[in-house]
Amino acid sequence: MSKDCVFCKIIRREIPGSIVYEDNDVLAFLDISPTAPGHTLVIPKEHHETFLGTPRRLMHNVLDVAQRIGQVQIKTLKAQGVNILINNYPPAGQSVPHFHVHVIPRYGKTDGLKIAMVEHLDGDLNFPVVVEKIKSGL
Ligand code: AMP
Repeated sequence: MSKDCVFCKIIRREIPGSIVYEDNDVLAFLDISPTAPGHTLVIPKEHHETFLGTPRRLMHNVLDVAQRIGQVQIKTLKAQGVNILINNYPPAGQSVPHFHVHVIPRYGKTDGLKIAMVEHLDGDLNFPVVVEKIKSGL
């Protein structure tokens, strides 16, 4: 638990949250500023800053609940699609430093989420060097 973390405060019930699921390890609640109705955040109860630094078992438990919520969004909320989004660190758009999975139901063109690869790099991208760097780090 982190004293000042807004998501830890929801876990401790110090601030309100629209909780849809809870177990020993995981909490899920509606995003306070949804991009679509039903936009849900799934978090581990233990405080870890990012997905990348979360212990594997806990990370799997969070993703398991995220999958189930996505299934419910299709079945019960009648979403036509679901985006699963995890931002890691501020340059990637992370604003709350407590690992969370966005589970965002999509209803066609009437919501506030835009995901687009607007620029594709070209030139010498040095694929063989990048492949070696990633492979050697795994
Ligand atoms: P990210 O930009 O990936 O860190 O997403 C953080 C998300 O947390 C944003 O979509 C916020 O709307 C949401 N958020 C921030 N504070 C709260 C809160 N008190 N209850 C629910 N969602 C929150």
